[in-house]
Amino acid sequence: MIATNIEKINQEIGLNARLIAVSKTKPMPALQEAYDAGQRIFGENKVQEMVEKHQQLPKDIEWHMIGHLQSNKVKYMANFVSLIHGVDSLKLLEVINKEGIKNQRIIPCLLQIYIANEETKFGLVQAELYELLQNKSFKEMKNIAIYGLMGMASNTDDSSQIRNEFKGLKMLFDKVKSDFFEAQDTFKEISMGMSGDYLVAIEEGATLVRIGSAIFGSR
Ligand SMILES: *Cc1c(COP(=O)(O)O)cnc(C)c1O
Repeated sequence: MIATNIEKINQEIGLNARLIAVSKTKPMPALQEAYDAGQRIFGENKVQEMVEKHQQLPKDIEWHMIGHLQSNKVKYMANFVSLIHGVDSLKLLEVINKEGIKNQRIIPCLLQIYIANEETKFGLVQAELYELLQNKSFKEMKNIAIYGLMGMASNTDDSSQIRNEFKGLKMLFDKVKSDFFEAQDTFKEISMGMSGDYLVAIEEGATLVRIGSAIFGSR
């Protein structure tokens, strides 16, 4: 089943986006099955769980941290995490940068943008994003790299609302790209779309989709 799901989703998303298999709460055999089907990018939302799975699975997997991140947990994954999606404060970036220095690497991050019409979702609004990108201490950080933006749409059945939220994120991405990252080729990722809305996300320009239940079944 897992292999079939991955194949179907890969056909749907085509070559413009990459699939992140969101494996949070799922047992090792499920991840191994996805790996055997060729999947190489996995997403987790808890650091401890990601560390354990990273230790047990083959080392050619890219591990993406997609959840809300506490700064005291960064150190446990700083040596191997491939992309941190949910960065939404300068303080957190400072910690990630510090861990990057310790581990002698540049840690790729996405800045999480608040796009949903709900109180519960994390993320920066545009003014906060601009403030962060213009901050002097941000500009001095050499051991983080901003690869793009991430957003989570509202949890609603109204697909036109979801589409508009994704459109907004894509517009903001284009603006930020031209205002701050024109010369940085690695600033190219738009992480948006989950099991319920990834087709809309792809149409609106997603480059990374984060899909859990449509691959592994419900949690
Ligand atoms: C759990 C999770 C997903 C995947 O959700 P599904 O609906 O199972 O596809 C995507 N993004 C984030 C941030 C998540 O926490």
